[in-house]
Amino acid sequence: MCARAVRTRSLRRTASITSPNYDFWGASCKQLDLGWSARDTTPMEERQLIYDWNNEGGANGAFDWTHARVDLNDETLRDGLQSPSVTDPTLDVKRRLLHLMADLGIVAADIGLPGAGPRVVDQVRALATEIRDQRLPIAPNCAARTVITDIEPIVRVSDEVGIKIEAATFIGSSPIRQYTEDWTVDRIVAASEEAVTYAVKHGLPVMYVTEDTTRARPETLKALYGAAIACGAGRICLADTVGHATPDGVRALVKFVKEEIVKKNDVKIDWHGHRDRGFGVASSIAALEAGATRLHGAALGIGERCGNTPIDLLMVNLVMMGYRDNDLSSLPAYAQAVAAATDVRIAPNYPVIGADAFRTATGVHAAAVVKAFRKGDRALMDAVYAAVPASLVGRQQEIEVGPMSGRSNVIFWLESRGLRATDEIVDRIFAAAKASDRTLTHEQVQNLAGGDAKLKPAGAKLETARRKGF
Ligand SMILES: [Zn+2]
Repeated sequence: MCARAVRTRSLRRTASITSPNYDFWGASCKQLDLGWSARDTTPMEERQLIYDWNNEGGANGAFDWTHARVDLNDETLRDGLQSPSVTDPTLDVKRRLLHLMADLGIVAADIGLPGAGPRVVDQVRALATEIRDQRLPIAPNCAARTVITDIEPIVRVSDEVGIKIEAATFIGSSPIRQYTEDWTVDRIVAASEEAVTYAVKHGLPVMYVTEDTTRARPETLKALYGAAIACGAGRICLADTVGHATPDGVRALVKFVKEEIVKKNDVKIDWHGHRDRGFGVASSIAALEAGATRLHGAALGIGERCGNTPIDLLMVNLVMMGYRDNDLSSLPAYAQAVAAATDVRIAPNYPVIGADAFRTATGVHAAAVVKAFRKGDRALMDAVYAAVPASLVGRQQEIEVGPMSGRSNVIFWLESRGLRATDEIVDRIFAAAKASDRTLTHEQVQNLAGGDAKLKPAGAKLETARRKGF
């Protein structure tokens, strides 16, 4: 499969998506008085309306697409809950979140650190049981320090529930951590060997995790990963624990680990990123392109300090870049469920998921979106003023009315809701919007529209739908 074909896959797919929410789709916009041209039904991308510089050069030009495969490991229920601001969800909610992860094609999840005590052991057991009983296509893993007392409860729960639970056993690897803890390399190698050997001997798959990998010396990584692989670890995880790495740094690190350590061994490379410098998604994609095959993240990027790589935005980009091809229509529901469960507020301008992500009140922007709407081309409407098609995640473009709006905002707002847009009504709303210091609420616009312009009951045909157009 050639790279270009893969990378355009998502756009082609969104062009054919229809949404039941588009109740105004059949309306014409006579009052916009913008005349019809012959409708071009050629799919948008085939008309080459976007010249995509993302496909020019760059690191992924050399990506081996014949082996394209990237799995996701969801850290929301473990690393994500280390955020100092979140509420720990109830067990019932955690079960529900596992289902939402599965709906999004997430194939692995960290379900806790049972070494933390009996309460976590009980939760891990319950979540593993849910995966088993509901046959969820999610491989569970549990975090553990490289000590037997952290791994033993994973062995116990795995045996009790009767499913494999991967032991994600971790230890600090950077010189700054060694100095602070008074650790020698020999000591952390020995602890790693003992932990991995114990887990393997008790039948657990092992992901060996080096913390602070992006600030660790190459010879230390060779010693640590070499020992873990020799003891039977099937996966090694490069953790950017403090969010230090730049995308170039990640590429150099993954390349080194792949070529100098993994070599021909059947050992997979995971990437676990944080976003202290804002590089979470970019670094994760750099890791994939350099050879990692599983990427970690947490919903909404929750996690310690500034959080983990936001798995929602990572998924959007992986689909848009062609690395994955799964349905993302349930992504907003997943993000909102995590927000509600953890008591985290989603900023209005949070990409893709935030309330304002597909919302415009600006006259020029809205006018372009309305013109695209008039052409009857959903993909065009989704793309003319947006990088991410709203339909990719089951959303739609929204036009609002505010001080920077034009009359077309007002007319579109009214007609798309089945309201009459007489000159008098439009003038009244437009004047109020210009005098306002913020976008008008839907209730304000509705009130300004007056009693003559009641919203029509659901299912009623729009007055404008009888006119010719689309
Ligand atoms: Zn982490």
